[in-house]
This record gives sequence, C-alpha cells and structure tokens, in this order.
Amino acid sequence: ATIEDFRPDLVIMDIDMPQANGIDVAQAIRLDPAHTSLPILFLSSIYQKDIQDLARKIGGDDFIKKPVDVGYLVKMVRMRAVRAVELRQIIVRDGLTGLLNHVAFKERLTGELNRSKRTMSTFTVALIDLDHFKTVNDTYGHQIGDTVIQSFATLLKNSFRNIDIIARYGGEEFAIILVDATPEQSEKIIDRIRSAFERIEFNASGRKFNVTFSCGLAGSEDNTSEEGLLTEADIALYQAKSYGRNCVRKQCRATGDGLTTTAP
Ligand code: GH3
Ligand code: MG
Ligand code: MG
Repeated sequence: ATIEDFRPDLVIMDIDMPQANGIDVAQAIRLDPAHTSLPILFLSSIYQKDIQDLARKIGGDDFIKKPVDVGYLVKMVRMRAVRAVELRQIIVRDGLTGLLNHVAFKERLTGELNRSKRTMSTFTVALIDLDHFKTVNDTYGHQIGDTVIQSFATLLKNSFRNIDIIARYGGEEFAIILVDATPEQSEKIIDRIRSAFERIEFNASGRKFNVTFSCGLAGSEDNTSEEGLLTEADIALYQAKSYGRNCVRKQCRATGDGLTTTAP
C-alpha cells in the first residue's frame, strides 16, 4: 500500500530489520508485476555470500555492505534511480503521444481502486473515442490522423490536473482517471474539453476540418472492480456514440436515476 501511494523511484533497505526480513519484503514487492522494474538496493552488514546471492536472485539490484561510504551510496542511488526512471518511461509511455500506455493505465487503475477503498475516496474513469476517425484518415491521410491524435493528447495533458491519470488506451481511444472526482463533476470537466475540441480547426494542406469525441464515464462509488469500471464506462461510451456522438454520457447508476447525457 505504501509503495502504491508513494510510488518510489527506488527502494533501499536492510536485510535484517526489526519487523521484517528484507529478502521477504523484496519478494513481496516483486510479486506485483507493476513493480518488476523498481530498483531495490540492499544495504546490509551481512557478509554471508549465500544471503547476498539470494538477495540478488530474488530481484535485488545491488548489495552495498555496511559501514557504507556515503558518497558512494549517494552516487549509486542517483545513478540507479535516474536509469530506472528512464527505463520506466520507455515501458509505460506511448510513443506517439507520450501519454501512459494501455498496460500502464490498467496498473494505475488497480492502484487507484485500492487507494480509494483504503481512503474512502472516489474517482471516475472516462473512456474517450474520437468520432468517425476512419473518415479523417481516409479523407486526409494517416499522417494527418496521427497529428490529430497528438494534438488531442496535448489538449488532454493541458486540461487535467497533475494528479489525474491520462492514457492512450488504444488507437484513437483514450482513458482518464479523474482522481477524487465524481462522475457528475467529471462530466462538467470533460464536457468543457469536448466543447473546446470541437472548435479546434485542423488544416490539411489548406483543407480545414474539425474532429469531435464521445465519452463514457463510470464512478468508483458504483463499481468495485477494474472490470466493472471499464465495462460500464465502455457501455456509456457506446451509448454516447448511439446518441449521436460528440457528447459525454454517464453510467446508469444503480440507484436508477436513468442515463444522462451532456450534448452540445
Ligand atoms: P466511431 O465514431 O464509431 O468511433 O468511428 P471511427 O471511424 O472512429 O471508429 P473505428 O473504430 O471504426 O475506427 C477507428 C479508426 O482509427 C480506424 C483506424 O484506422 C484509426 N486509427 C487507430 N489508431 C490510429 C493511429 O495511431 N493513427 C491514425 N492515423 N489512425 C488510427
Ligand atoms: Mg475506436
Ligand atoms: Mg472512433
């Protein structure tokens, strides 16, 4: 839970600790695939070669003997943390837009779901799909299509708070976690973005055109699993498409106040 909340770039720990054994802690960290690339440095006065070997075998990245040379320790920590951040960027980011990729989004969703259960907070998942994008490609070419995707990603980055989680979920689909926000609040925020986006004029060698998007929302208060959230957001997105596109649609709440749609 601490690692999920704090999201460290590197873990540094002893092997012989008052309440836990460092080897066990490292094994527990490595159990979660999301933490495969998190560097673990052991700092220990244990000299037995077999324990050091075990520490490396279970995924410890280095073993520094105590007493430690502080200058060396700082250098090692900095070097490994920088390298880990660089590698992680490659693993979790989408090449075209720099947004989180699909796998990274799923990991963050699991983290947010756990966090919201612990802290009794709410969040909303938004699935966004660009409208009639095949026509954009067919009319203006795939490269112009890529430019639209990049521009839209930039608009998303500039429109949400730093704490929100924005991902390219697939080709022209995007997924967002609005942290500490209800579907009602999220609907207002995303509808403002919808209205800003439809007014952006794209230019393909002098031919001007606009693109719109549809969005489906599902809240963590009504869904207790990743699957539930994504399925409900996807159903709402599908309904936004059927409703005529260029609109934001919320999940039909369990309390049954019906579907709501914000349209231009
Ligand atoms: P709808 O409004 O129902 O979503 O219609 P659509 O045409 O957007 O939907 P569809 O899923 O049929 O097509 C998605 C299109 O997005 C097809 C594909 O060529 C295009 N696409 C997906 N990824 C990329 C990409 O990375 N670059 C470009 N240029 N196009 C992409
Ligand atoms: Mg699509
Ligand atoms: Mg589409």
